Amino acid sequence: MLKDLGEFGFIDRISSLCKTHGNDVIRGIGDDCAIIKISPDENLLITTDMMVERVHFLVNLQTAHSIGAKALAVNLSDIAACGGTPKQAFVSIAIPDCFDVIWLEDLYRGISELAAEFEVDILGGDTTRSLTDMVINILVTGFTKNNETLFRNGAHDGDIIAVSGHLGYSAAGLELLRNSSNSSDQIYAPLLDAHLKPKPHVGVGRILARSQACNAAIDISDGLSSDLGHVCKQSGLGATIFEEMLPLSEALTQAALELSADPMEWILNGGEDYVLLAAIRSEEFAKVKLAVTEAGADLIEIGRFVSGSEMKLIKKSGMVFDIFPKGWDHFRA
Ligand code: ADP
Ligand code: MG
Repeated sequence: MLKDLGEFGFIDRISSLCKTHGNDVIRGIGDDCAIIKISPDENLLITTDMMVERVHFLVNLQTAHSIGAKALAVNLSDIAACGGTPKQAFVSIAIPDCFDVIWLEDLYRGISELAAEFEVDILGGDTTRSLTDMVINILVTGFTKNNETLFRNGAHDGDIIAVSGHLGYSAAGLELLRNSSNSSDQIYAPLLDAHLKPKPHVGVGRILARSQACNAAIDISDGLSSDLGHVCKQSGLGATIFEEMLPLSEALTQAALELSADPMEWILNGGEDYVLLAAIRSEEFAKVKLAVTEAGADLIEIGRFVSGSEMKLIKKSGMVFDIFPKGWDHFRA
């Protein structure tokens, strides 16, 4: 059953039926983007992500504009994870009868405003009717130099694990939208923005790629535990995360108190953060962090890659807990 296989078990299973032909494919299934060699020193990146009404968004909680922007942002985030510069997009939508043209134009304004911000050209797509929910699928292309391409599988034992922003904000924002009458409180604005208007960390991805000190990267779309798990598995390593290094803001703490939630649960397993997680050579970390902060972004050390295959959380008390991949999984959810 799909429920037992899980989303990633399913992808593993069908990937053996998706053979590649020719040696221009550097990566097919298994990374944030497919990576294709197009010249001796340049790679084409291609990624695609689908958003389904009631699974990924609710039209009563979100404007069409923000749904459109997010549908593109999640793809730009995958280009960022590979260290690339996004270039082109194709937008496909399946539209139920109840959606009107005004709503759809607002959706497209959301897509095209974010596209303009990243100088991405929308070059086509497909349109069909849907008998049930709205479905939006976007495909994005991008480019990287061959020696500036970031993969999930290159982490080394001893590399610093760093993230390019707050974790758990999007999950907290969603819970506030669903369950709190105080969600419009100013203190919660960053949490709601993280959920409704995620900003892809393309600039950070480029700095990491150019630094030549980043051994692996992924974007956190399913949750720290799951996405760190992908890097660990593909790099043949384990990881140690230090609770005291995980950024915990007043906004997150207050939201957790109000909703009687555990902020660590949001940080470890909440999905849709769309920050980058990187494996950075420890001796180069200060230099890379400086370059990222000079560009007005963040790079926060949260732990180390270690030998073995287990992921551990060292609590502030010194107690050690296992981290299991418990982030978002479509079939286990
Ligand atoms: P991300 O969260 O970075 O968007 P996913 O977890 O969606 O990545 O996908 C992981 C890998 O599996 C990617 O290489 C993606 O292209 C591939 N993949 C996902 N679904 C399918 C599918 N139905 N058929 C073929 N490849 C797939
Ligand atoms: Mg990704």
